[in-house]
Amino acid sequence: MRCLVVGCGISGATVARCLADLGNDVNMIEERPHIAGNCYDFLDDNGLTIHKYGAHIFHTDNIEVWNFVSRFTKWYPYQHKVLGLVDGHYVPIPFNLNSIEKIFPSTIAHRLENKLITLYGYNVKIPILELRKSGDKDLSFLADFIYEKIFFHYTLKQWGLTPEDLDPSVTGRVPVVTSRDDRYFQNRYQGIPLLGYTKLIEKMLEHNSISIKFSTKFQNGMEQEFDHIFYTGPIDEFFDYEFGELPYRSLQFDFFTFNRPYFQRNAVINYPCNYDFTRICEFKHFLNTNSNKTVISYEYPKNFIKGQNDRYYPVPSLEANNLYKKYLEKARKDKKGITFLGRLGDYRYYDMDKAIARALEIVKTIMKNI
Ligand code: UDP
Repeated sequence: MRCLVVGCGISGATVARCLADLGNDVNMIEERPHIAGNCYDFLDDNGLTIHKYGAHIFHTDNIEVWNFVSRFTKWYPYQHKVLGLVDGHYVPIPFNLNSIEKIFPSTIAHRLENKLITLYGYNVKIPILELRKSGDKDLSFLADFIYEKIFFHYTLKQWGLTPEDLDPSVTGRVPVVTSRDDRYFQNRYQGIPLLGYTKLIEKMLEHNSISIKFSTKFQNGMEQEFDHIFYTGPIDEFFDYEFGELPYRSLQFDFFTFNRPYFQRNAVINYPCNYDFTRICEFKHFLNTNSNKTVISYEYPKNFIKGQNDRYYPVPSLEANNLYKKYLEKARKDKKGITFLGRLGDYRYYDMDKAIARALEIVKTIMKNI
């Protein structure tokens, strides 16, 4: 089969490699001058690996996905931990029993912990919107505190919407945890590619049957040249915004280099209730790089504006999803030779592992049906 894959991000690269491994001829086009999409990273002059489009931590429970990516990289065994500045204290996020003890006097903290564990059990993850419905007076106090200090202002900054106006799965990604496990992710497999994500994707695309054209956009008419197209670009743009623009959130990163070994104690520190930025990332923690210099980025969420900045996050709201469904219906009806995938093609807030899982499934389905 002669295929066109539009976009060299993690979804496009996965599809391309799987198709090539199965003997197909794969042509890729990429709008940017580089591969790896928003996973793109690079080595700076000081030997530090910088994630240009924000911190990426690979984590999954999916063995098939883990085995697939592990063909193309060795891993630095990194376990992600995030702290948040709340009322002058750096507390673990997701908010857990350690966070409670950092904030509240011990007698109150113990009462809250006991109540939490009695009602929900130990080592349980409770979405904040669930915890707010507990019905218990003490836990309502705790839930309101966490909601206000961790979720409300951060979510307003990040999305321009309150937690209630988003799909509950968004704040559910960072639940309250009834344990002392300070890790951000509890997945079975977790790490940072030892040589970075760009190298990982480069290896994925190193195949005799894969060719790439950079700085090239998809154009109508390309369909005729291929048996099938895998389109990882924005689905609304593909249809010339016929039903209107799908909303996205974008990010602005302000990078700084300092002549000192460390800026902060963790890779990521969140600022959930103060400041206009949501978090500061210090990249050297990811690979534990030894250097007298350090690079950090302040992350400022922005509205996506066509032609001005990049799409990062599809907005998981009812209204946006309804608009997406119109495009999906049209794609299913009129574009049978094109499969849309990835964060922009599916209009889904995928983590990297979910994007890969979807790409693996798509190739299996397509190959079964030809
Ligand atoms: N969130 C929050 N406060 C935090 C961390 C997360 O309110 O300190 C909410 C916010 O709505 C955010 C969502 O949880 O968009 C998901 O957070 P995650 O860290 O998974 O986002 P990502 O790393 O994908 O930007």
